Amino acid sequence: MTEIKLVFDEPVQRKKAPKHLADYSPEDRREIATGLGLPAFRANQVANHYFTHLSSDPSDWTDIPATMHDQIREHFIPQMITLVRSVTCDNGMTRKDLWKLHDGVLVESVLMRYTDRTTVCISSQAGCGMNCPFCATGQAGLTRNLSAAEITEQIVAAARACANGELPGGPTRLSNVVFMGMGEPLANYNAVMRTVRNITTPTPDGLGISARSVTVSTVGVVNGIEKLTEEGISVTLAVSLHTPDDELRDTLVPINSRWKVKEVLAAADAYEKKTGRRYSIEYAMIRDINDQSWRADLLGRLLKNRNAHVNLIPLNPTPGSKWTASRPQDEKEFVRILEGYGVAVTVRDTRGREIDGACGQLAAAEKLK
Ligand code: SAH
Repeated sequence: MTEIKLVFDEPVQRKKAPKHLADYSPEDRREIATGLGLPAFRANQVANHYFTHLSSDPSDWTDIPATMHDQIREHFIPQMITLVRSVTCDNGMTRKDLWKLHDGVLVESVLMRYTDRTTVCISSQAGCGMNCPFCATGQAGLTRNLSAAEITEQIVAAARACANGELPGGPTRLSNVVFMGMGEPLANYNAVMRTVRNITTPTPDGLGISARSVTVSTVGVVNGIEKLTEEGISVTLAVSLHTPDDELRDTLVPINSRWKVKEVLAAADAYEKKTGRRYSIEYAMIRDINDQSWRADLLGRLLKNRNAHVNLIPLNPTPGSKWTASRPQDEKEFVRILEGYGVAVTVRDTRGREIDGACGQLAAAEKLK
């Protein structure tokens, strides 16, 4: 593969992202305030503006003296992400936002409104180091980890868009967060966990979205799943299995050379046991690669006694990909076989397909300009 030279209007600097309220635990926020010579309760006020009222502009905060605004802006609420552009489809019910970070790096998030919920799909890394050959993000490699604030800002921006009624159907509440944008969340563990806590902690210290409405999707980083199991926080775990056999999985999900199918499922089982949460198995349906009936049969046998739910995702082919989505009859047969084993299975809808909503393609297209 030829490497694409990235061109930005500013040179990419490897300076650390500025620190922001969302990078700290509530206790640390108060300590930082004290260190700045401010009373600790100022940190609570800032958190309340940010997480409850989704406001990032101290000049609107009348309960904090104007003399403190600049200091607070600099240390607690610097601008972390800047909107480059949004594209919508599905009559405006799906919106993909392209964000530029402080160093010119681009990431994206996708906001999807359904009848019963509104979900944001966020990026945890710029690029990804996992190298799955069917994923556009995987092709570009890892640029860098995002900070907790850079991830949290994508969610707060989505919550604000919902509250402001920017999607058709009027104002609503952001109800779900999925770590299914760019990056491998468990390879950026600490920032992702800080973000999960920002999402699930009740207001005013967090957004107050329930843990079960948060999905962390992983290629199967087993030591990360084990760590997550110890956190005592019941997010929904999704495992990108994509095939039940190690031979093919070694090529589709290269980290399988480190952690095999059996080990990944054992770690997911332990998570399920500890949290009581059924986990998801993600399975991109790739024509004539992983969609044969014998693989459905093998998957059914693997999962029949597990508390897992299979999410079949029709492959969204990346530009120049030799692979494409499964034939409808093969997909149907795959579902039939799994159901025969009593395994719960759904076929993921293809929201955002026209705007390359599945896999880092907007950011990739922007870089090529
Ligand atoms: N790194 C995490 C989260 C990223 S992507 C993970 O791998 O789980 C979320 C899901 O989209 C993963 O299951 C991933 O395998 C899948 N995916 C990536 N590229 C895809 C494509 N081109 N078509 C369909 N699904 C894709």
